[in-house]
Amino acid sequence: MDHPSQPFARTVPVLDRYDLVVCGGGPSGIPAALAAARAGLKVLLVEQTGQLGGVGTSAGVSHLLGGRLPDNSGWCVAGIFKEIVEGLAARGGAIDPRTIRGERFSPFGWTGKVSSITYGVPFDPIAMAAYLDEWMLEAGVDVLYFTAFVDVERDAAGRRVERVVLFNKSGLHAYACAAVVDATGDADVAARAGCPVVKGRPEDGLMTPATLMFHVDRVDQDALAGEIYRTGSNRFRELIAHLRSLGEWEFSYEIFITVQLHEKGTLMVNTTRICDVDGTDGRSLSRGMMQGRREVQRLFGLMRKHFPGFADARIKLVAPVLGVRETRRIVGTYVYSVADVLAARDFEDTIGFSGYPWDLPDPKRPSHQPLHERKVGLPRPATPIPYRVLVPRGIENVICPGRAISVERDVLGPLREMGPCYAMGHAAGLASVPVAREGVAYAKVNVEDLKARLRADGAAVDAPIHDPGIGLVATAV
Ligand SMILES: Cc1cc2nc3c(=O)[nH]c(=O)nc-3n(C[C@H](O)[C@H](O)[C@H](O)COP(=O)(O)OP(=O)(O)OC[C@H]3O[C@@H](n4cnc5c(N)ncnc54)[C@H](O)[C@@H]3O)c2cc1C
Repeated sequence: MDHPSQPFARTVPVLDRYDLVVCGGGPSGIPAALAAARAGLKVLLVEQTGQLGGVGTSAGVSHLLGGRLPDNSGWCVAGIFKEIVEGLAARGGAIDPRTIRGERFSPFGWTGKVSSITYGVPFDPIAMAAYLDEWMLEAGVDVLYFTAFVDVERDAAGRRVERVVLFNKSGLHAYACAAVVDATGDADVAARAGCPVVKGRPEDGLMTPATLMFHVDRVDQDALAGEIYRTGSNRFRELIAHLRSLGEWEFSYEIFITVQLHEKGTLMVNTTRICDVDGTDGRSLSRGMMQGRREVQRLFGLMRKHFPGFADARIKLVAPVLGVRETRRIVGTYVYSVADVLAARDFEDTIGFSGYPWDLPDPKRPSHQPLHERKVGLPRPATPIPYRVLVPRGIENVICPGRAISVERDVLGPLREMGPCYAMGHAAGLASVPVAREGVAYAKVNVEDLKARLRADGAAVDAPIHDPGIGLVATAV
C-alpha cells in the first residue's frame, strides 16, 4: 500500500569519527567488530537490543549450528567462533561439541541418526551475553546498546557512506566513519544506502515462517527419551495428529522440536511457526510477536498435559524478540545459486564453510521443507562461502555478512546458521582494514591477503579443520 510521504530534515550532531561502524551485534557483527578492533581499527558496534548475540540470545535460539562437520569430526568454522565456543564451554556456559556423543536419540538434535543438526553448540544465552561483553571490552570495541541504525549520509558522488545516523535515548545523532559492516541481518544499511536488495520468494515475496522461541526447565528428559525410543519418532507427529482430531491442536504446524541447552532438563522449544511475517515491517513484527506469545501459552499447556517429560516443566524464558529467519537479501555482483551448491562449485575467494544442510521451511506449510521433499541432498559435508556474496552493489564501503547475503533464497538454508555467520563476520571485519585505512572498495579487497589474515587468526579458510583423535562416535538408528 502506498502511503503519503512527507520530507523530514534535521540537523544532527556528529559525535565522533570511527574507522568502522558495525551495525548489529549478532553472529556476523560480533566477529566483525572483534577482528577489526584486534587489527587496530577504531570500532563502534551499534545494537538495538541490550545485549550481543543476535538471534542466539535475544530471540532465544541458543544452539550454534553449522560450525561443525556433520560427523562431528572437526570445525567448519574456527577462528573467533571456536575461541568463543571454547571459552564459554570452559566456564560452563556452553557444551563443547567435541564432548557430544552421537546416540540413537540425541537431546541436542532433531534426528535420531548422525546429522549435522546433532552437532551444534548448545549454550546459556545469559552466560553468552555476559561473555560477549567481556570480549568487546577486552578488544576495545565501543558498544552502543539500545541504539538503532536509522540512515546513512553518502559522499557527493554517492559512492561511499560518510556518516551513519543513529537513534537512542540521546536522540538522533551521527558518527562519521570510513567503513560500515551491515550486520543487521535485514540489510538495513545496504537498503538505506540504495543498494539493490530482494525479499522472499521470487514469485510472491513470501518468506519462511518466524518462530517465537521459548525455554523450559524441570523437564524429565529420561521420560522424553523413553517415549522417543518407544515410538521411534522424535517429532511427535502421531500425537499431534491425535490432538488435532480432538480439536486441541490448532496450530499451522505438525511437528514438535526441542533441543537440550547447556544443562540436562533445560530445553529450547523451537516449535511455533508464524506465517506471513515481514521482519522489515514494524506492524507485521508486532502482530507476529502477539501471535507467538499466544501460541507459546497454548502450546505449553498441551506440552504439560500430553507430552512425556513435561508435566512439571516451567517456562524459563519466552524470547523478547521474534525469531525471523528471512528478510532482505542484497544483490551483489555474484548471486550464489542452488545449482552452484549442487555442482559442488569451488571458489577462489572462499573465506569459510558451513556444515549445515538445506533448511528453509515453506512459507505457507511450516512443517514442510521444499528441498528435503524433493530429496535434494548436499554434495559434500562442508559448503564453501565465497567472499563476493557479502559485497553489495552500488556502494564501496559497506559490506553485509550474515543472513542477508547475495544468494538464491534456498542457499540461505546452509549459510544462514550462526556458525557460518561467524565465519562471514570474521572475514568482513578483516576486509574492513584496507577499506578503512586505504580507501579500497570492499569489492576490490585483495582476497589472497584477506585469506592470509584469516588463516593467521585460526579460521578455516582452505578446508574444515579436523580435531585430532576425534572420530565418529555415533550409532545410527
Ligand atoms: C527461529 C529461528 C531458529 C533458528 N535456529 C537456528 C539454530 O538452531 N542454530 C543456528 O545456528 N541458527 C539458527 N537460526 C539462524 C540464525 O540464528 C540466524 O540466521 C543468524 O543469527 C543470523 O545472524 P546475523 O548476524 O546475520 O543476524 P542476527 O542474529 O539477526 O543479528 C542481527 C543483530 O542486529 C541487530 N539489529 C537489527 N537491525 C538493527 C538496526 N537497524 N540497528 C541496530 N541493530 C540492529 C539485531 O538486534 C541483532 O542483534 C535460526 C533462526 C531463527 C529465526
